[in-house]
Parts: sequence; structure tokens; C-alpha cells
Amino acid sequence: MDLSYILNHLGEDRARYFDAVIPPIVQSAIFAHPDVATMRLRMADEFAEHVYTRGLNPTVEIVARKLAALEGGESCLMFGSGVAAVAAGVLASVSAGDEVLCVDKPYAWTSQLLRKLLSRLGVRSRFIDARATGDVAAAISDATRLILLESPNSLTFEQQDLAAIATLARARGIRTMVDNSYATPLGQQPLELGIDLVAHSATKYLNGHSDVLAGCLIGSEALMRQVFQGPYMTLGAILSPHDAWLLLRGLRTLPARMRQIAETTQQVIAFLETQPRVTRIHYPQHSSHPQWQLTASQLRHANGLLSIELEVPDIAAVDRFVDGLQRFLIAASWGGYESLVFPVAGVREWRSLNDPASVPLNLVRLSIGLESADVLTADLAQALARI
Ligand SMILES: *Cc1c(COP(=O)(O)O)cnc(C)c1O
Repeated sequence: MDLSYILNHLGEDRARYFDAVIPPIVQSAIFAHPDVATMRLRMADEFAEHVYTRGLNPTVEIVARKLAALEGGESCLMFGSGVAAVAAGVLASVSAGDEVLCVDKPYAWTSQLLRKLLSRLGVRSRFIDARATGDVAAAISDATRLILLESPNSLTFEQQDLAAIATLARARGIRTMVDNSYATPLGQQPLELGIDLVAHSATKYLNGHSDVLAGCLIGSEALMRQVFQGPYMTLGAILSPHDAWLLLRGLRTLPARMRQIAETTQQVIAFLETQPRVTRIHYPQHSSHPQWQLTASQLRHANGLLSIELEVPDIAAVDRFVDGLQRFLIAASWGGYESLVFPVAGVREWRSLNDPASVPLNLVRLSIGLESADVLTADLAQALARI
């Protein structure tokens, strides 16, 4: 299926809504049935039938079908945030006594889910450096039920060999899940590589406009039915029809945004390479990335999220640099139309969610948006001069 068909047509049955080009926001909590027999049939399969919007809603369904197709998966469930999608995938996969093997630098709240919440429910987690597949194989125990990956992660962009880990997990009957937010389906499709579940924070590039929180989980229909009957319906962390409609609108332009952002980012990186104050550039496609070979074979598309390390006399100089930027908004998150800067040293609470030793204090993350490269490099130049 070609990309433009998925984004512009798939899942949109326009004859059902007056041939309107844009699908309606079906802002209804409930769906009525023409007769009792139909009600009985529909309520027996809320995964596939319209009964109640906590289950299936027509507007949400459109965006879910598109995301499933983009990832090459059979089925997709939408959530009210990325963390809800990750949590649902984990909760549907483990029981008390089981163990999760997780990459050592996951998204901060994924780490909290495992360390704080699941540990109370009798699920143990171990955090491992998964860059070498052999280390993953060695870490597996009899209790391991889920291997939770994030490739690349969203701060220093470590990657895992997804196909190799999927193969060794399958052979042992262990489920695998990848947080694919950074790569987007344009960059990699983990299901094709044998991974069982793909989660996204759709808040980032998929929506791309910083106006919606959303998440999705994609996998086989059998697996997604299991998630649906479990955490999806019981926790109710759903995406509202209105937010699904906004996400649909953002998603339409994903390839165009990503092309532009990748091109601008290349120019920004070329500029940063000339700057003596910039001592290191973290970016999967950068020649200095220790895993550039894996990047070349696994990641098909570049994006606009990178981190830089600055040579600074003290940490206050990092603040001066960040405060000096005029065209980058100071904010966490990433993936929107607008450029952002996030100084890791600036947020003690955020650092404490992670392993502080793993994140250098002079690290500053940049999310490149849709501004022109000239505007951004001029801004970076004047801010670097303040160090
Ligand atoms: C932002 C993010 C999440 C969480 O998504 P929300 O939509 O904010 O809940 C999960 N994983 C990664 C890699 C993220 O960047």
C-alpha cells in the first residue's frame, strides 16, 4: 500500500458521511442499535463493532487504521497518551512473578512504570545495555516474559538490533515490544523485523503540531484483542474523538514534515560541526555515532531530534546558551512544527527519573522544527557566543 493512499484515503468511507472530504468528529459516547438481535451481536464483539466510545469510535478508528497500515500491522489501538500505550502493552504481557527486560535508558516514565508501579504488583524489571544482542541473550532468565526496547531512545539515541533480538526472543517464547516514537514508521517498521508490539507517543512527530497528546499500540489482531479485553477497556485511557481528528489532520503531512525537518537538521548539524564550543553531537545518522552501521541498515529516515554537548566553564553557561536562543522555545517534548531546546541540566526532577550518571550535565537536546535552516543556525551562533 502506498504512503499517500494510507494518509489520504485508507479508512475513510466518505459515502457514509455525505461525501465530506474531511471525516466528521463523531462526538458520541454511545451507539444505538436497530434491534435487540443486532445489539446482542455487536456487544459480543466490541473490538470490531460500535457500542461505546471507550471501545470503538468511528473517528478514532480512522486514525487507528492508518497507523496500523503505516507500521505494517494488522491492528492498532489508540490511547490518550504515549505512556498509556506503553503501559497497556506491558500490562497485557506480564503477570506477578514475571520479569521484564528493558533497555537501560528508556523514556523516563516507562522507567517509572516498571520501577515503581509494576514492582508493587510483583513484576520484576531489569535494565540492560541492549546495544549488543549477545548481552540481551545472556540477560534472559526463565521468568523473562517481555523484552522492552526503545530504538533509538530520545536523548542519546542508543539503538538495538531489532531483527536479531526479535529472533532470539521468538525462539524462547518471549514477547518483544518497541517504543518507535523517535523513528516513526517512515524510519523503521519493527513488526516487519519480527517484533510483536510497537508503541508510539503520537504526541511527537505523528501529530507534529504540539496540540494533542496521543499514543498508539500496534500488533497482530490476536494480540491487540488481548490488549483490548485487558488494559484498554479496563483502564479507559482512550483517545477522544476530537483529539483523534486533530491527530488525523497532523498525520496527513507526516512525510512532508519529516522530509523538510531532515533536510534542515542536516544543515544545522553541518553548522554545529564547525563550532568549537560543541564538543559532541548525538544523532543516529552522524558519523560520530558509535552505532552508525546499525543506523545505516535499520533506520531509513532521519529526523530532527539531536543532542549536543557543550564545552562550558560551568553549568550556568549552559543556561546562558539556552536562555540566549530566540527561535527555539525552551520546552520538554519534541517532534512539533516548532524548534525546541531542552537543557538536561535544567531539570533535577527529570534527571532523577533517569539514571543521572548516564546523562552528562552539559547535554542540550534540540528538536528542529519547520523554520528555515538559516534562521536556526544564526540563532545558534549568537547563543553560542554567550557561553
Ligand atoms: C514522549 C514520549 C513518550 C510518552 O508519550 P506521551 O504522549 O507524552 O505520554 C514515550 N516514549 C517516548 C520515546 C517519548 O518521547
